[in-house]
Amino acid sequence: MSTFLLEVVTPERKVYAQDVDMIVVKGVNGELGILPNHIPLVTPLKIAPVTVKKGKTTEYIAVNGGFMEVRKDKVVILAESAELPGDIDVNRARAAKERAEQRLRDAKKDEIDFRRAELALQRAMNRLDIITKQ
Ligand code: ATP
Repeated sequence: MSTFLLEVVTPERKVYAQDVDMIVVKGVNGELGILPNHIPLVTPLKIAPVTVKKGKTTEYIAVNGGFMEVRKDKVVILAESAELPGDIDVNRARAAKERAEQRLRDAKKDEIDFRRAELALQRAMNRLDIITKQ
């Protein structure tokens, strides 16, 4: 079976670079499965796990928004932050979730703080989700 190179890159580091069989991502317009030789495309991503299939194994990467670029020879995911399950600090994610929930209770819906708290909550839930998937 053919494979393609998947790279997940943040401003800080290269989180992932391996040959994989297939990935499933959550684009802003819905879920997308990418196999080798997919037509080139660029799409913004939601804050959600990226599922990576490689041989008999399935891995998950917490990708916190950003973009996916499908090129002829590889797929590049660029995000502000992304973590593999082993890199996730559960207590930190739990604390971030609680902080965000508190802010959502305190802020008014039309405030920028409310939107920021919503996004922080999504990142924290995404990280916790990845850990339970393992
Ligand atoms: P926090 O409020 O805990 O900082 P955050 O969602 O605001 O969370 P980000 O801005 O998304 O954090 O990420 C900042 C940096 O910290 C990135 O390098 C990211 O990978 C890392 N990071 C954030 N939360 C965790 C976590 N729970 N475990 C491991 N690394 C994390």
